[in-house]
Order: sequence, then C-alpha cells, then structure tokens
Amino acid sequence: MSSKIKIVTHSEKGRCILAANGIKKDEEILREKPFVATQFAWNKESKYLCCSNCMYPLETAQDNVRRLTFDNTIMLPFPECDKINLQNVVKCENCDDLYCSQSCLENEKMNNHEFYCNQLLPNGRFNEIYEVWKRCHYPPETCSILMIIKLFALIKKKPMETVEKLNEFCNRSVNEDLMLAHKMLGDSYKSQISELQETMKKAFADDTEFERYLTDDGFISLLAIIGTNSQGIGTSSFADYVKSISELQLSEEKRSEIDDFIDSIYTRLNETVGEFLNSEGSGLYSIQSKINHSCNPNSEIIFPDSNSLLQVIALRDIKQNEEITISYLDECQLSRSRHSRQKYLQENYIFECFCEKCESQVNDADLTSDEGENYDDDDDNMDTD
Ligand SMILES: [Zn+2]
Ligand SMILES: [Zn+2]
Ligand SMILES: [Zn+2]
Repeated sequence: MSSKIKIVTHSEKGRCILAANGIKKDEEILREKPFVATQFAWNKESKYLCCSNCMYPLETAQDNVRRLTFDNTIMLPFPECDKINLQNVVKCENCDDLYCSQSCLENEKMNNHEFYCNQLLPNGRFNEIYEVWKRCHYPPETCSILMIIKLFALIKKKPMETVEKLNEFCNRSVNEDLMLAHKMLGDSYKSQISELQETMKKAFADDTEFERYLTDDGFISLLAIIGTNSQGIGTSSFADYVKSISELQLSEEKRSEIDDFIDSIYTRLNETVGEFLNSEGSGLYSIQSKINHSCNPNSEIIFPDSNSLLQVIALRDIKQNEEITISYLDECQLSRSRHSRQKYLQENYIFECFCEKCESQVNDADLTSDEGENYDDDDDNMDTD
C-alpha cells in the first residue's frame, strides 16, 4: 500500500483513509490495479473494443470515430496524436476475447479465465445467465454480470484470498441491500432478481463454494457490494487523441481550425451514439473503495494509462492526518443543491453526507429544494425509462 496514506476506523464514519504526511496539490496519493474489473455486458455486445483484462482501447482513434459515426471517410489530422498501440494485441486461443498484450492475457489466465472461457457464448454453461442479465439491465449500465462471473472464477482458483478480500468491502443490513438492488435493477427488480438468482443456482448447481452467494440474502448482498463499491472505468481512443491534440503547440489559427474539427466530430458522435462514446465497465478496488465521499473533495480519480489502473491525485494541498476524500457525484451533480446531492447519495450509497459543504448549506435546503426537486424528477424519469 502507498506509504502516503493510512487506514483508520472512525466511530461514526467507519473506515477512513488519512494522509500519513502532508501531500502537495497534483501529487499522486495512490495507484491501484483493480481486484476484478470488467467491461459492461451491453457495451461489449455493441462491439466497443477494449482489452478483456485492463480495458485499454483496441482500436485507433480514427477507427473509433469511423465506427461510431458510420463514416469510413473520416481522416483525423495529426495522426501522431493517435497513440493507441495495437502491435501487441493477442487473442485467447479458445474464445474471441482480445487482450492488449501477452501480459494481460497471462494475467487473465492467472485469474482463472478458463472458468468462463467460451462459457458466455451460445451453448456455453453461463450463456443463459448472460442473456437473463442483458434482459434485466439495459444501458446505461452501472454494473455487470461479468463481474460476478469473474469473481466466481477467482473464488474457484483462490478461495481464501478472494473471500477475504470480498469481505473487506462495505457490509450493510439486508434491508439496505434490498434498497440498493432495487436502485440497480429498477422497478421490476424483485422478479428480475429471482430470475437471475434461479438461473445462477442452476448454472452453479455443482459448485458448492458459491452456495453462500446464491441464497436470497447472499445474492442481494453480493449485488449490493458490487453496486456500491464498484468504480466506473471508461476508456476511449478518441478521447486520448483529443487530449494529445490539446497538448500540441499550435498557432492560434491552426488551434481554432482543429478545435472546430473536433467539435464537428463530437456533434456527429452525439447524433449517432449520444452519450455512449466509451468502452465502459467497472472495477472493484480494495483501497480506493475505502475513500469516503465529500461534496468538496480534496482528491480525484484519474486513469493515467487509458486502462483500469487507477490513480488518486490531490486537488489541493492536504495536511498530515487530514482525511482523503473523493466525490462519488459527477461535476453536474456536485453543482446541485444540498437536497439533491443528499437524495442521490442516500439512494445510491445509503449514507447521509456531513461534509463541510453540506454542513455549511444545512439552512439552504428550503431555498433550493424546488430546483432540486425538478432535477430529481428528471433523474427519476431517466432511471425508469
Ligand atoms: Zn490489457
Ligand atoms: Zn478464452
Ligand atoms: Zn456533502
């Protein structure tokens, strides 16, 4: 673990991560690979290409925009900014899963790829689970059945170590777990959960080590652990390209030309795929999952290598023993009223936020709740669509 942090248990907040020493703005606090990570089921199904181990994009930025806009004539200027390296791509010899490198393939094999290799395809042992899942959980996705399958593969291979790691993730009551499962799967969640659970019981009838996760309580609890602890991972070769372009030294005229060009590509992408630009998935990170939320966080999460390797960076100077915080809300949600933020956090993570920003706005609640309610209505509509 990074020597810059320490984990302590707080009487009210539970586990917290504190700065072991002073940390400077922009300094790396932590770098962590996921314990398990997967691309979302529909994202994979829709041929968003990425490494099956680390989610590194597996198409050039040019191919990426050509595919998403259905236009094979697009030529990206400054091809040197299209930096995706496809030279080491390898394929599993038994299924079609692609990997960015031999080491990602080896890593996946070490994590028991064999367990699900070919098994999600038609006629595979887990195909029915996969199909049931896709029926219950349309995009936008927040978690994936592939995560549970990968976790089961790990439990098969390294039972003690995996169960111990899994138990470290936040535990809640059955009632809270039910609420979270509801949020995850939507209004018809009860029938969906039991259908999924029954299908899984059938598929894993001979695997006694999974029994505890397939009971009524165990299954909901597993879904809730994944739902509340997983960190979204999005990778995109076009986004990487745009970032490289922004770092080029260009004349004002050239800069404005390229900015217009990039805007025009984003407009076209918006017409064809809307928000679904990236290879998307999620991962469970042992240490990062213990970092608490604040509506005025002192740190942020980035993915420096365009894959699932996560980095926590200080947004400002942090004092020794100060708690490290990140935001579980995106920028848009953070700008909403205290009431709206609290509602979202309560529904998705089951906690009340007592951060300094929320505390300082305690009396604002009535002033801004109208605006908050409107936003919340929008949210609810999106969730049930
Ligand atoms: Zn990889
Ligand atoms: Zn395979
Ligand atoms: Zn707050």
